[in-house]
Amino acid sequence: MICVPTIAEVRTHVAEARAGGAVVGFVPTMGALHDGHLSLVRIAAEQAGLVVVSIFVNPAQFDRTDDLRDYPRDLDADLSALEGLGLQVPVLVFTPEVAEMCPDGAATTVTVSALTETLCGRSRPGHFDGVATVVARLFGIVRPDLAVFGRKDRQQLAVVRRMVDDLALDVDIVEGPTVREPDGLALSSRNARLDASSRDRAQRLVAALAAAVDTARRQRVHGPVNPDDLRSSMHDVLDGLDVDYVDVVDPDTFARIDRPVPGDGRMLAAVAVHVGGVRLIDSVLVGAPDEEVTVLTHLGGVTTAPVQTDTESGGTS
Ligand code: AMP
Repeated sequence: MICVPTIAEVRTHVAEARAGGAVVGFVPTMGALHDGHLSLVRIAAEQAGLVVVSIFVNPAQFDRTDDLRDYPRDLDADLSALEGLGLQVPVLVFTPEVAEMCPDGAATTVTVSALTETLCGRSRPGHFDGVATVVARLFGIVRPDLAVFGRKDRQQLAVVRRMVDDLALDVDIVEGPTVREPDGLALSSRNARLDASSRDRAQRLVAALAAAVDTARRQRVHGPVNPDDLRSSMHDVLDGLDVDYVDVVDPDTFARIDRPVPGDGRMLAAVAVHVGGVRLIDSVLVGAPDEEVTVLTHLGGVTTAPVQTDTESGGTS
């Protein structure tokens, strides 16, 4: 494993690998790596002859300075975690400084003007511009054949896919399923900032998603599924928490769903909550059996079956 901080070094290593015929896989991260990130690195390693992992806490995607300041950073632990994977393919870790990624005088912002009217796009203005701009720059630096993103951040995944399509970027976008703690809490770098009581309350995010899935499953036996009922079942579980949003949107357009959907239709149920000063998000694709089963095991905040991650195979675009 090699760790480099400059664009020039990345380009040199990637060019060498490519000259040797290697497919280049890429996993962009903000560090504080956990098993969710590592699962994406494994997916990349299955398909590539060189895996590039970027670790960059991107200031442009933070809408709060305290969140940026408090974001966990531990490069040594990150490098050990990557080493610990024991991958057979070489790993190139790119750890740029802010000046390397956000140079003075840069005048270009990538805005994906669809997909961002709801959920995090609505509650964090400018967030997805920051994401799309840095991902575009990273793609320009690494020029990967494929890049792996987690379903944990579904709106981000959709924004990146749309950017790649609209700009005809030659990158396959591969998805990885959400990796969860045994009690269902989705792994997140921000979880490290939860104290014990906040950690307990955070479990209610997945319980809320489970309630939405349970409601959908009951309704689809008889007919269409009412998104308002999904929203209210999530609100009930989150009662008393500082809710940022609870919504049910179209998984392709991210438009809010206001009308009942046929029983076999897909809807994205999504929540964002502030717990102990930490903002956490989670979502489930209602109508996707694997995802439904994964969150349903946490209905009522109780784990009712052996924990599993959703195993729907990652698609490419
Ligand atoms: P981040 O470091 O938070 O910017 O995340 C980097 C990548 O890891 C993104 O593609 C995320 O969607 C993905 N990711 C974060 N948490 C998880 C998780 N629990 N399971 C799977 N992927 C995740």
